Amino acid sequence: MSEKEIHIYNTLSGKKELFKPLNLPNVGLYVCGPTVYGDPHLGHARPAVCFDVVFRFLNYLGYKVRYVRNITDVGHLENDADDGEDKIAKKARTEQLEPMEVAKYYTDRYHQAMRALNTLNPSIEPTASGHIIEQIEMTQSILDAGFAYEVNGSVYFDVIKYNESHNYGKLSGRKLDELLEGSRVLSSQEEKKNPQDFALWKKAEPKHIMRWNSPWGEGFPGWHIECSVMSTKYLGETFDIHGGGMDLKFPHHECEIAQSVGACGNEPVRYWMHNNMITVNGQKMGKSLGNFITLESFFTGEHKLLEQQYSPMTIRFFMLQTHYRSTIDFSNHGLQSAQKGMEKLLNALSVLAELGSNESTDKDKELSEKINALFDQAMDSMCDDFNTPQLVARLFELSAIINSFYHGKIKTTELSNESLEKLKSKYRELVVGVLGIEELNNDDSLKLNDVMELVIDIRKDARSQKNFEISDKIRDRLSKIKIQLKDEKDDKTSWTITR
Ligand code: ZN
Repeated sequence: MSEKEIHIYNTLSGKKELFKPLNLPNVGLYVCGPTVYGDPHLGHARPAVCFDVVFRFLNYLGYKVRYVRNITDVGHLENDADDGEDKIAKKARTEQLEPMEVAKYYTDRYHQAMRALNTLNPSIEPTASGHIIEQIEMTQSILDAGFAYEVNGSVYFDVIKYNESHNYGKLSGRKLDELLEGSRVLSSQEEKKNPQDFALWKKAEPKHIMRWNSPWGEGFPGWHIECSVMSTKYLGETFDIHGGGMDLKFPHHECEIAQSVGACGNEPVRYWMHNNMITVNGQKMGKSLGNFITLESFFTGEHKLLEQQYSPMTIRFFMLQTHYRSTIDFSNHGLQSAQKGMEKLLNALSVLAELGSNESTDKDKELSEKINALFDQAMDSMCDDFNTPQLVARLFELSAIINSFYHGKIKTTELSNESLEKLKSKYRELVVGVLGIEELNNDDSLKLNDVMELVIDIRKDARSQKNFEISDKIRDRLSKIKIQLKDEKDDKTSWTITR
C-alpha cells in the first residue's frame, strides 16, 4: 500500500484533516444515491463522478474500499420533509404503473447514464424497499432510547429531546433555537411536537400504495432513516467516509447523524464530504427555469440551450476540471473547451501507446527529473482533498512533453528506458485509472445518434424527391425495431426508442 498521506476536507470540522481509516487497509465509503422517479440529470452526475474518483484514487493507493451507494425507491416525499405524496408513488399514479415498475425503469436509466459516464459500480447498491425490516428495527431502537415518539401510527424523531444531550445542527452549522424560530407554527391537526421533528415512520393513508406492516400499524419509512440503516448494516456503526451533494447536508445528513447516534450511541461518520452544486449559464438548475437538462439531452444535443451534443466523457472531464467543493457552471463554451482539453489528454495516450522502448541511458537528466516532479505534484494534488483540477493541470504539462516526442522536437532516446516506461504507465494510470477518462468503444448510444442522423437525412432526401415508397419503408422498418420517427415543424424529424 502507498505511504502517501491523504488530507480530506471534513464538513463536520470545517477543515482539512489527515485521513486515518478505522481498519487499515479497509475503507468504508457511503454515498447517497438517487431517488428513482425521473431521468438522470447533472445533479445525479456530479456526486456520482466526484465519489467515483475518490473510490478510484483510494483503490489506486491500495486501500480496499467498500463503496455503498443506495437507491431511494420509497419514502422520499414531495417536499423533502414529511408532507406531500411519495415521489415514486406519484409518478406511478400519473403513469398508471406499479411503483416498483417506476423505480426499476428509472434505476435502469440511472445505471445506463452512470455507465456512459464511466463510473465504476459501487460494491453494494442497496434499496430502501429492501430494508424495511431494518428500518423498523432502528426506529424501535430510537424509540427505546427515548429520542422518538409515536402518534397515530407515525413515529417522529424528537429533536428537542435529542438536543438536550447532543448537538442537532453540528454538521450544517445550524442552531436548533434559530431553526425553531424560523419554522412555521404547527397547526393544531399536526402530530409533531415541534416543526423540526422528522418522521422515522409514517402511517399510510388509505390511498397510499406503498405500505408495510409495523408495530405501529401499516405505513412506510421516512426518507432519512434508510441511509442510517444501510450504512450501519454494510459499513458498521462507525465508518470512514460519507459523501453526497451539499443540498443533502441539511436536513438529510443532519438527521442521519441524529438517528444513528440516537439508535446506537455512536457517531456514525468520521469524514463527511460534500460536493458543491451545479448552475447552468450562471443560473440554478430547475424545471421551472427551463434550464433543466437531462444527461441524455447532453449526449444527444437535443435541448434548446445546447449548441451541439456532448459525449459523456466530455461531461465527466468538464466536471473534474473543477474541484468538487466549488460550484460548476455548465455552458456551451465551457463544455467545448473541456472537449478540446480532453482530446489533448487522449491524444497523448495514443502517442504513448505507439512509442517503442529504448536502450539508451539517461541522456537528459533534466527532462527525467521534470517528468518525475510532475508526477509527484500530480499525486500530491490528489492527496490534498482530491484536487482533480490540479491533477489535470499537471497532466496537460505532461501531455505537452509527450506531444513533443510525437512532433520529433524531443527524441525518446533522450530519456532512459526506465523514465520512458514510467511515463507510459503512470500517465495512463492517472488519466484512465484515476480520472476515468478513456475512449470507450462501447459508446453505442452516441453511435446510434450519428446513424439516426444519417437515416433521417436519407429519408428527407427521398421525400423531397417525392419517393414516398422509400421514406415510408424507412419509417416502417424503424418502427418494427421500436424506433419511432416524429415529423416536427420546420422540417425537422425527431426519434425516440419506444418500449
Ligand atoms: Zn442518504
